[in-house]
Amino acid sequence: MKPIPTAKLPCGERVPALGQGTWMMGEDRRRREAEIAALRLGLDLGMRLIDTAEMYADGGAEKVVGQAIAGRRDEVFLVSKVLPEHATRRGTIKACERSLKRLGTDRLDLYLLHWREEQVELGDVLEAFTALVRAGKIRHWAVSNFDIGDMQELVRLSGGKAVAANQVMYNLNRRGIERDLLPWCRRRRVPVMAYSPLDEGRLLRSRDLKRVAQKLEASPAQVALAWLVGQNNVIAIPKSASEAHVRENFAALDLRLGKDELAALDRAFPPPKRKLPLATT
Ligand code: NAP
Repeated sequence: MKPIPTAKLPCGERVPALGQGTWMMGEDRRRREAEIAALRLGLDLGMRLIDTAEMYADGGAEKVVGQAIAGRRDEVFLVSKVLPEHATRRGTIKACERSLKRLGTDRLDLYLLHWREEQVELGDVLEAFTALVRAGKIRHWAVSNFDIGDMQELVRLSGGKAVAANQVMYNLNRRGIERDLLPWCRRRRVPVMAYSPLDEGRLLRSRDLKRVAQKLEASPAQVALAWLVGQNNVIAIPKSASEAHVRENFAALDLRLGKDELAALDRAFPPPKRKLPLATT
């Protein structure tokens, strides 16, 4: 098995920088076998980080993941998420226990607040996360869809600095986080988990991306993933229920984007203009 690039959690633990998403899995029984096979192939190749959520197919995606990882739990870095509507002190713990049951495991490696809503008391969620860590039900906790203001507020709360990651939309089409969130996370050594790394498949139709890919004798998906995984402390979690696509995505790790290709990508998918000076807290 070839070594996979890793990202580093603030505690120093390394996790694979290329993982597997599961949104849209578990929706249709007829696709279940293919979904399980794709996830298992990803694990065989070394894409051992699997991202899921109680929200996906109302728990159905977690059940698919449970079947895919049965008998090989120790190989996997398992990530799931609690919905904001469950994110109270007690509700978070109950939601986590339901996720564990569906996943057929006794622990998550990383548990995220899926997104923030007005009624969510961050302090209560932190207490619940801390209790879950103490009980051995989760190893780390993190957040998702937090903007820089949310992150600043979080790290000011007691225990908030233990946040292990922020999972946000990040791909060549959607580079907004480069303005302030990404530099802030980098300074704090908080990895960014890039969701929708292929912009839900939309990126693959881009003529500009196809042109860069052609020059490299690679596919557009590989270029889009290599662009993310080549960055410091960014984890990409493409979803695929197709074994051919999983193999193709994994091969993105063999691709090195040079200066010329990066410049061509910047021209086609311009980065946002930086706000200066950067917020420092
Ligand atoms: P994505 O990974 O950007 O794109 C998935 C789509 O691309 C699927 O239709 C997939 O179809 C297709 N695809 C994958 N590899 C391909 C390839 N090599 N060639 C052609 N098509 C390919 O989108 P996503 O599912 O939105 O994001 C990935 C994961 O991030 C999710 O599954 C989920 O785990 C997570 N996520 C989190 C949040 C959040 O709020 N935290 C939000 C969205 C997503 P096939 O299955 O047919 O390959």
